[in-house]
Amino acid sequence: MAVISKPSIDIQSYPGNIINGKFVPTAKTRNTIDPATEKPLWPAPFATKEDLDVAVKHAKNAFKTWSQTTFQERSELMLAYADAIEANREELEKLDTMETGKPALVSKTEFNNVIQWLRAFATMELKDEILEENDERTVYGTHRPLGVCGAIVPWNWPALLGLGKVGPALMTGNTIIMKPSPFSPYTDLKLCELGMSIFPPGVFQALSGDDALGPWMTDHPDIRLITFTGSVRTGKLVAASCSRTLKRCVLELGGNDALIVCEDVDIPKCLPKIATMTFINSGQICMLAKRIFVHEKIYDQFRDALVEFTKENIKTGGGFEPGVLVGPIQNKMQFDLVKDMYQDVKKSGYKVALDGKILDSSTGYFAEPAIVDNPPDDSRIVLEEPFGPIVPLLKWSSDAEVIERANSLDIGLGASVWGKDLERAERMARQLSAGSVWVNSHFDVAPNIPFGGTKESGLGREWGIEGFKQFTDHTSLWVWKKIFE
Ligand code: NAD
Repeated sequence: MAVISKPSIDIQSYPGNIINGKFVPTAKTRNTIDPATEKPLWPAPFATKEDLDVAVKHAKNAFKTWSQTTFQERSELMLAYADAIEANREELEKLDTMETGKPALVSKTEFNNVIQWLRAFATMELKDEILEENDERTVYGTHRPLGVCGAIVPWNWPALLGLGKVGPALMTGNTIIMKPSPFSPYTDLKLCELGMSIFPPGVFQALSGDDALGPWMTDHPDIRLITFTGSVRTGKLVAASCSRTLKRCVLELGGNDALIVCEDVDIPKCLPKIATMTFINSGQICMLAKRIFVHEKIYDQFRDALVEFTKENIKTGGGFEPGVLVGPIQNKMQFDLVKDMYQDVKKSGYKVALDGKILDSSTGYFAEPAIVDNPPDDSRIVLEEPFGPIVPLLKWSSDAEVIERANSLDIGLGASVWGKDLERAERMARQLSAGSVWVNSHFDVAPNIPFGGTKESGLGREWGIEGFKQFTDHTSLWVWKKIFE
């Protein structure tokens, strides 16, 4: 397969959806706004149901040859694709910051990850297993690609979460149609555009539209799997819709991670990471610390130190301002939800250790970091994922009690325990119901490590070989060797 590895992009131009290796313009267009300035961004395509049908037809056709390519061939193309992204990363990072409001240093992290993830995916081969072997027969476990997959992406990390689906789908021999969030269409469209000269037509396509497009995909009879990241509420709709055609679905949904601080921690040593893993990207990441449980023996000291550290080090502002960690909330709808949460804390009369403000009177959707001081366990700020820079600190006294409280919600995406006594911390960590659990860290992810949620935080896993398997059907292949001897 011929590879042109250095295509370039113009981030101001979105000529159409990317269907069968070409731009396909749409009759209508739509744009989003830069959440830091509230200025409109560029016209982006607006897909119809017919556009989706055409894309699915091409993806189905492309699957016939793509599924027959070797691992080596797919790997070379994936590496060329990573190179093309790397060659254009400066522009892509700028675009990511403009449309998501994400601070520039977080966009840099996102693209470091994207490139690292794709290069790792290119090395991950889902090999046949020998399930049984004797003189008479060999039984293999093989992993056959499913066909056309649909990737539905949220607005907070369009690049990593989008390509975190595309990479494994393509490496396992599937074709894929990516649908960015209507709030963040640009980065994903540009990423697909970069793939146009690398992957054969129809293998990787992107359609941007409004809220109708996702349900058309989940209902489509010729899409065999939906890989979805988003809220619990939408995830349930996706699962219900997929069930009508018995499509596979992988769901990465919301989190409300517990971070448990034991009394033996060295506060100054763990504070920078805990504060960062709470407020980075304005709390708009699924696996940040969203409920910080601090042992009663050090509660006051920890609270005061966290407040001080946050005041001094966690800067709020536009994504392009130097040193900013808390950018604007990505869209008006989410900003209103975050405002409502701040107001609920105020209305309910909970103590506030850091009184972050909603910066309502200026341009842009800005909210400063806020820390709520030991609110009740049944308060909204504890029960609901705020997806904004506001966090409750909660006091605990015994291991069993804090584990029960940490596990008490219907969701379980990530959780962590921080403590010097590793044996105790690991014992506690093993009792936490979450898809990823860390001791003395939070929010570590890697392309080779499976990632996902327990309970209502999701179904299935992404990444790692476990994640690759979700894009395949297991076939047991029985070979009888002696029957004609
Ligand atoms: P969302 O559920 O509103 O939307 C996600 C995607 O689904 C968008 O592309 C949207 O257009 C599409 N969609 C909306 N309705 C649909 C429907 N009925 N059928 C099919 N698709 C539909 O989520 P969001 O607001 O974009 O993202 C924020 C949420 O995502 C938070 O809850 C966050 O925790 C979660 N999230 C989870 C992870 C994870 O990996 N577990 C990662 C990031 C974000």
